[in-house]
Amino acid sequence: MPAAPALPSDALPTLALHAGLQIDAATGAIAPGLCASVNHLVKPGEAAFSAEGVEDLAQLPYMYARWTNPTVRQLEQRLAALEGGEDALATASGVAAIAAMWLSLLRAGDHLIVSDVCYAGARELASRMLPDFGIEVSAVNLADPAALEAALRPNTRWVHAETPCNPLLRLTDLPALAARVHAHGARLSVDSTLATPVVSQPLALGADLVVHSLTKFINGHGDALGGAVIGPRALISTLRARAGVHLGAALSAQAAWLILRGIDTLDVRLRRACDSAGRLARWLQTQPAVEAVVWPGLESHPQHALAQRQMPLGGAVLTFRTARPQAMARQLAARLRLVHYAFSLGHQRSLVVLLDTAAMMESSYDLHGEALAEYRRWAGEGSFRLSVGLEHPDDLIADLDQALNTPLDTE
Ligand code: PLP
Repeated sequence: MPAAPALPSDALPTLALHAGLQIDAATGAIAPGLCASVNHLVKPGEAAFSAEGVEDLAQLPYMYARWTNPTVRQLEQRLAALEGGEDALATASGVAAIAAMWLSLLRAGDHLIVSDVCYAGARELASRMLPDFGIEVSAVNLADPAALEAALRPNTRWVHAETPCNPLLRLTDLPALAARVHAHGARLSVDSTLATPVVSQPLALGADLVVHSLTKFINGHGDALGGAVIGPRALISTLRARAGVHLGAALSAQAAWLILRGIDTLDVRLRRACDSAGRLARWLQTQPAVEAVVWPGLESHPQHALAQRQMPLGGAVLTFRTARPQAMARQLAARLRLVHYAFSLGHQRSLVVLLDTAAMMESSYDLHGEALAEYRRWAGEGSFRLSVGLEHPDDLIADLDQALNTPLDTE
């Protein structure tokens, strides 16, 4: 499958505002309309469709919102433009996008390779649910070409990577991975939630499909769940027919409308947050309470050279480690005034949370031996994930300073 053409780096801000935008013909309204209607008038005989992808449902007149809705469609067209893909399917959440992809495009007897440290929810879905449907699953360190080589089987049909991955911020060399996966006759999907199209465009680097949790940076305001799969029209139309129609995890028009508004400012938000993340990462490195900082833009990141090739910006998420992480978690939760101690990432307000290694192993990753040792090299017994928001970086540093450096038991 030919790779999508790389977007010129300066195309994104304008596409983020204009791609997919439909001016209302009746009123001339410029802001995207919120079409809440679930159904539309149909002309008898006109809206015939096949749910198995013979027709592209997105090309037919609107009929029912589980497969197309005018507001959701504007969002899909904008996402496709931002990733340099032909089309997109928007879903009710990021996990729904991943489930839609695997449950629609894999069959019993197929083998799926997933990154051993991809987003915990995706890893749990792959390792715990897909085998019940007869799909074989291997969790592999995709940053290690030898590990991939050893895991490939004659029936390997799909490889799923995430870069940077949440929460370790380990990277995957996408052109090298895509070349090997395609030589094997398999396909590659990439979860690019932490990067967003501002930081990386996986289709241009060789991926067949790119997946997003729109809940994070793309919406960027912590007030809507959403997901998307973006890629060639033929694959997306199959996804729409199989997952949109039959699995039913459609995105609501209301959420699509919020996400479209979030995307208007995606470029400036991400650039500001990446810049602040760099300042915070460098400041954290100087703090006696901090043992290690991981951020792809730091020279100390183990894959910094790859980051420089593949990510023009370092991303807006970093992790740091301290001694006695559980005690520090209580201290941060009690002391922080601006940074919220909470799960999730990619919102306009900064968020920090401890991801305890033992808990992550138990709930999601189940790594042993060398794979567990590799995880600990990145996260120790647990690391704090800091999702940098849009506050002034000096204010964030001041807040972290007082919270990190004032132990609870000194009162
Ligand atoms: N992918 C990544 C990298 C994530 O971080 C998340 C959520 O944290 C998801 C997918 C799932 O997204 P959602 O919560 O929208 O289902």
